[in-house]
Amino acid sequence: MTDLLVHDATVVTVNRENQILRNGSIRVTDGRITSVEPTESGDRTATADRVIDASGKVVIPGLIDAHRHTDFTLVQGLFSELDGSELLKEALALYHTAESVLGDSFFEAAWDLACLRQLTHGVTTVNAMDFTPELGAEAIGEAGLRGVIGPELADLLNPVSADEQLQAARRFVDSYHGNYDGRVTASIAPGGEVGCSRALWEGVAVLRAEYPELRLHTHLYDSAAADTMAAGSGADDPLDLLEQYGLLDERTLLTHLLHADRDDARRIAESGAHVLHCPTVYSYFQAGDQAWFPLPALQEFGANVVIGLDDPFWFDSWDLIQEAKHARLLSNFEYGAQQWSSYELLQMLTIDAARALGLDDQVGSLEPGKQADFVVIDVDTPRHQPYSNLPSVLMNSVTAGDIETVVVDGDVLMRNKSVESLDVERVHAAAMRERERLQAQTGWKTSLGGSTPPDISILRRISARPVLRAVNQYGHGVVHRYF
Ligand SMILES: [Zn+2]
Repeated sequence: MTDLLVHDATVVTVNRENQILRNGSIRVTDGRITSVEPTESGDRTATADRVIDASGKVVIPGLIDAHRHTDFTLVQGLFSELDGSELLKEALALYHTAESVLGDSFFEAAWDLACLRQLTHGVTTVNAMDFTPELGAEAIGEAGLRGVIGPELADLLNPVSADEQLQAARRFVDSYHGNYDGRVTASIAPGGEVGCSRALWEGVAVLRAEYPELRLHTHLYDSAAADTMAAGSGADDPLDLLEQYGLLDERTLLTHLLHADRDDARRIAESGAHVLHCPTVYSYFQAGDQAWFPLPALQEFGANVVIGLDDPFWFDSWDLIQEAKHARLLSNFEYGAQQWSSYELLQMLTIDAARALGLDDQVGSLEPGKQADFVVIDVDTPRHQPYSNLPSVLMNSVTAGDIETVVVDGDVLMRNKSVESLDVERVHAAAMRERERLQAQTGWKTSLGGSTPPDISILRRISARPVLRAVNQYGHGVVHRYF
């Protein structure tokens, strides 16, 4: 019995043969794809619990955001006109206010809004690193989405000890890994060479040995001072730090690498570790000290590079397709045209990202046996027609606003832009209420013309000593930690 049938679609399978069906049907039973074949006339009258006539539409695998933070989703619009150093100060102040003053209701509303945005932007899977992982697991699970969630570990930036953070991470893994029919899984997520003590790295190594099936998700080389920070943990450089603890292999996800050189790229590719590239946040805030992501070297040595939004609430865009476009533009600007083809960008947002997360046997392409995660995009409009290069249309012309229908595990979560798996009014109301509380508690002022930070010194707003210690110790490097 077919539960879901999509017919007359242009199906971009992203399978090994890079097959695109001009007029295809997808059948789904018990959440899995059972067939992807040319549409036959009988499909148009076939019975299934749900039938989607996708004439004039394109179906692609669900998009995968390979690196995101979520806790501060509700700050959207506050940071978008700040420069990098202002961002550092205001983010520190806000992080410390929010946790003590605003509490769980603030973060719950943030996660629900993030799920709504993720869903409406066609992102069926997210790889998140956050300080409120339990809320995230429940929000993603209840929304019907897929997520890999890592409790962010950073004892130099957080008053909670390394031991306590590691214990909490273990509890999270035991409680949430594999929940919601396997849609929610856990990762181990030390923040990076900034913010983690030697004791924390040692604990992470123990945790990883206990849970070898989990991904290790971290930031690396996101500051010019990366080598100095690694030296503080007794290592020659950040890669040496990971190797010392047995943490650099094909189950490792490395985010940013802005200051990695050619030799680092070779070591990363040889280890099999995957690279998570988040171009917008760095270019928007110019916080990269002019260094740029070493794409040519990573490609030369064959590393798997994928894309993430990182902190979408700082630059006010949740569109992963646009993020891929930024990756291409910035890399072409730095290294010359044609760094990526359009189809390669599409692979990065789907099958390559699934491979990075260890989920490529389940999602990332439209093939029999995989879980049915896909999105339906309307390209049958004068905005896109006529065209002759569909990958280019998908990566250059389509925006998230063209996404009509989203399916995860065979469940239709959004149909014709109507969200079915979330109570949109409730999510909206909670976000508005918590956003008002945020402004009332912190002194941020907003208007239609923009946002103004509180007129109180930063030091008076930051009370937690470990943060101050980290600022003094690492200075500018701390800003990178918040990406
Ligand atoms: Zn990040």
